[in-house]
Amino acid sequence: MKKEVRSAVIAGNWKMNKTPAETTQLINEMKPLVKDADCKVVLCVPFVDIDAAVKAAEGSNIEIGAENCHFKSSGAYTGEVSAEMLVACGVKYVVIGHSERRQYFGETDQTVNLRTKAALDAGLTAIVCVGETLEQRELGYTETLLKFQTKMALTNVSAEQLKNVIIAYEPVWAIGTGVTATAEQADEGNGYVRAAIAEAYGADVAETVTVQYGGSMNAKNADELLSMVNVDGGLIGGASLKAEDFSVIVKAASK
Ligand code: PEP
Repeated sequence: MKKEVRSAVIAGNWKMNKTPAETTQLINEMKPLVKDADCKVVLCVPFVDIDAAVKAAEGSNIEIGAENCHFKSSGAYTGEVSAEMLVACGVKYVVIGHSERRQYFGETDQTVNLRTKAALDAGLTAIVCVGETLEQRELGYTETLLKFQTKMALTNVSAEQLKNVIIAYEPVWAIGTGVTATAEQADEGNGYVRAAIAEAYGADVAETVTVQYGGSMNAKNADELLSMVNVDGGLIGGASLKAEDFSVIVKAASK
């Protein structure tokens, strides 16, 4: 395993939290705390907060992401936002296929693939989420499911485009629940994702892809999770809304 060849990326996912004014305040609090990070620091924020976030992060090492994008560049898709629009607003990353979108908004493996390709075509880095439910885990389908979701998301994504893909392994049972996967479970899940990439693109390519773990990562457990060979960073929900906690996770990834 060659963990050192991969970029460590800590990305916050703010979900449906914070107004533009609160965004400015939180990013201003975070900037001095994460300025010495030896990893990439990304904040994925609600659409309405993007402008405030880009302005607040200007000149710092924090990059801004969105939480979703549509797969068409424009058209009659009321309520949606295209990848091109995000790029025009200064966005660099976008979360695709978060389990909350799969669960509440009808996101499927097919739409995840379409959105991933649209994001890559527009020049964004896609943070693609995959993960099993507790029921799927208990039935013994974790490996099959993670490999399937990963390959589906990457259908028709070239090896060149894959350079702008991060996969976040997020067990659904660990998201927002306070129940974290053990470091071994996180490493195993991330390993299945990497194995799927190896099957599709070859082992050498798979070694270069950043695979994050997400699911109740916090200031206390980040060190152990991030020390695992297959865990190249984190997608952080709740703890990314607290400057101090988020910065502890960033520091853990910088070791
Ligand atoms: C997430 O939203 O991707 C997430 C992992 O949330 P939390 O850290 O709150 O479990």
